Amino acid sequence: MDEQWDVVVVGGGVAGLSAALMLGRARRRVVVVDAGSPRNRFADHMHGVLGHEGVDPRELVARGRSEAASYGVEFHPGRVERLDETGAGVVVTVPGSGQISARAAIVATGLSDDLPDIPGLAEHWGARVLHCPYCHGWEVRDQHLGVLVTSPLGLHQAELIRQWSPQVTVFAPALDESVEARLRSRGIDLVADPVVSVSGEGPLVVHTARDTEVAVDALFTTGTPRPHDDCLKHLNLRRADTPFGSFLAVDPLTGKTSGDRIWAVGNVVNPGANVPMSIGAGAAAGGAVNGALVTQEFDAAQATPADLHRSVTPR
Ligand SMILES: Cc1cc2nc3c(=O)[nH]c(=O)nc-3n(C[C@H](O)[C@H](O)[C@H](O)COP(=O)(O)OP(=O)(O)OC[C@H]3O[C@@H](n4cnc5c(N)ncnc54)[C@H](O)[C@@H]3O)c2cc1C
Repeated sequence: MDEQWDVVVVGGGVAGLSAALMLGRARRRVVVVDAGSPRNRFADHMHGVLGHEGVDPRELVARGRSEAASYGVEFHPGRVERLDETGAGVVVTVPGSGQISARAAIVATGLSDDLPDIPGLAEHWGARVLHCPYCHGWEVRDQHLGVLVTSPLGLHQAELIRQWSPQVTVFAPALDESVEARLRSRGIDLVADPVVSVSGEGPLVVHTARDTEVAVDALFTTGTPRPHDDCLKHLNLRRADTPFGSFLAVDPLTGKTSGDRIWAVGNVVNPGANVPMSIGAGAAAGGAVNGALVTQEFDAAQATPADLHRSVTPR
């Protein structure tokens, strides 16, 4: 833990691994600190991921780790509690392990989906209770699909799901007449009774407050995304208000935060990013961080006597 790293990547899901792969191949000394709970761990198959259709998400992460490790990237299990900027770089604190210092940090810690507090939803999350039709819609196409609306975003989801099936039931209390008419115009059924629980093996049974039961093949809903950015809270980095809540503001191309040496990528800054988007963002940040370190090295070399230049070479 006393070593000086070029880059510490906080979070070893697909975004962090992609960044680490780029940096390892750029001959940087990289350590990935990972708590080991990627967001899609509830699903057995991944979709919409070119070249990896239907693959188990765990398999992709395992391959990513081994590919990054083949370029010298090292891994440290644990949860970063705090990240601080120092004059020369960053230092992260991992309870039980101490501190890790590096010249730059990439935060790729993902998010949690806080589900509506309805018994049965969490048990079926990722299997029959779903959030993303691009990830799982094809597999339940033309079946009876429910949409549990708990926020304005849920109404958008209700319209979206109609693309995957003509048989859609929306569970949403107290909608405007015009919104109801819009949904009904494409054959969507509406249930205004509040949902109290969900149960069942195979098809799901949605139970409402008035003891109605509606069987659906899958139920879509939007949880509230909660970014895992607590380790940065004390730094007061710039944030942006989005329809999904408050997220760290980053440069859209590189993932650079308002912190001098901190980049952030994947779901922790973009709740709408799926696996390929997160991989792309990680790759872009990896390249950007290497570029920033290269610039720093040339700046330092110009300010250094010529005979010391040879020592500023990568491994
Ligand atoms: C049920 C479900 C199914 C999905 N299916 C698909 C699909 O089929 N196709 C698709 O493209 N997308 C799918 N997604 C979306 C996909 O999960 C995300 O796009 C992807 O996981 C984002 O990658 P990430 O690296 O940003 O975050 P994650 O994959 O969540 O990885 C973040 C990592 O950081 C770790 N971490 C968190 N905090 C800390 C900390 N403080 N210190 C150290 N480590 C930390 C976590 O434990 C985790 O290992 C699905 C999502 C869900 C919920």
